[in-house]
Amino acid sequence: IKELYPEDLFNYAELLSDGEVEVLAAARKVIEAEIKPVINEYWEKADFPFEAFYKLAEVGIMNSPKLYVGREGERKPSEIYTAFLYLELARADASIATFYTVHGGLGYNTILLGGNERQIEEFAPKIASFEWQTCFGLTEPDSGSDIAGGLSTTAERKGDTWVLNGAKRWIGGSDTADIIPIFARDVEDNKVKCFIVRKGAPGYHAEPIPHKASLRAIRNGHITLENVEVPEADRLENINGFADVARILVYTRADVAHIAMGITNGAFVAALDYTKQREQFGRPIAKFQLVQEKLARMQANAVATLGYSVRVAQLQEEGREAMTNSSLAKMHNSLRMRETVALAREVVGGNGITLETDVARFFADAEAIYTYEGTHEVNALIVGRDITGLGAFV
Ligand code: FAD
Repeated sequence: IKELYPEDLFNYAELLSDGEVEVLAAARKVIEAEIKPVINEYWEKADFPFEAFYKLAEVGIMNSPKLYVGREGERKPSEIYTAFLYLELARADASIATFYTVHGGLGYNTILLGGNERQIEEFAPKIASFEWQTCFGLTEPDSGSDIAGGLSTTAERKGDTWVLNGAKRWIGGSDTADIIPIFARDVEDNKVKCFIVRKGAPGYHAEPIPHKASLRAIRNGHITLENVEVPEADRLENINGFADVARILVYTRADVAHIAMGITNGAFVAALDYTKQREQFGRPIAKFQLVQEKLARMQANAVATLGYSVRVAQLQEEGREAMTNSSLAKMHNSLRMRETVALAREVVGGNGITLETDVARFFADAEAIYTYEGTHEVNALIVGRDITGLGAFV
């Protein structure tokens, strides 16, 4: 394990089972051999490396039997493994980790927490094997942070069919997904419900958002829904208001804390490698005291973010997850990530603004992670509400 995660100075990886380490090590091999060699090219052309990514499915990152030893009957690997899977993905590339989180985090948890047994049986195994791609359609063009109150996509029931109208924005993977969970407001009772739109449904259109300067390798869609029909059988039965959406976000916000942790670790490792090789004044720049101070700060951030992630994962595993925990972790890890990518870019000098050293990609991508799944301010307000007892959103 030490070889896999030399930056894990406090040995958190010792919490993983042998089977989990095997899967993570296999994933690392695929990432090194298939994803890393092509990721900059895809980032530049603003496209997603599907072929390389789906090699990870062959490793069974969601459904390998090695992940379910002692967890028989469960539908998800352990939360600690999940935190390390995000570390594995995000320390290589944030778009890859983001694609995974909309599929295996947001989309998958929406089905598990919102679906009935029949729906879970139909969708979950195919999502876990990556046979079907899913995503998460919540945010709208005019409602981001205030989505709970502002969600305006409508759902009107006509017999056994629902008719959806509206627009969604930023939805990762939505132009290629097979099943698209769309959150819409029931015009009858005004409650937010979730509908599974299937690929090719008439009236569903997803256009990749162009000109992104962050997370260029994942396609984020602008969705329009014009009289899209969804049968009642594809409405997720257990989502009957925004409180149910919040139950999903508790989980997935922790996932994004893990992504911020992975980027922190990845940027640190890339910067450390560079400083050991780059020579100035006749010696490696890693030998200079001011450079070492930055490396030490990055190392501290790597350990601190891992510590937050692991503890949140443990609480989730024990069924003690809470909105405040995941908001605190997302807020903290994103702040440490932002500091780390900036320090990493500094020590890589001029080369830190080209894609060659990976650091520039981490630097640019960190900005999107800082914003999605609740901005810094929104997560701070969730924590603030908990510690003061006073809501300050409006
Ligand atoms: P706004 O809500 O307009 O916020 C703008 C600024 O105002 C922020 O700094 C914010 O903190 C601040 N602000 C807003 N309200 C308050 C307040 N009450 N007090 C203090 N400050 C406030 N959504 C999905 O549903 N599915 C996805 O797959 C998805 N993927 C995404 C991928 C990317 C790359 C990005 C950028 C976004 C994605 N999102 C997705 C949407 C994301 O969750 C939203 O961008 C986020 O919730 C913020 O909303 P907004 O961008 O509309 O910003």
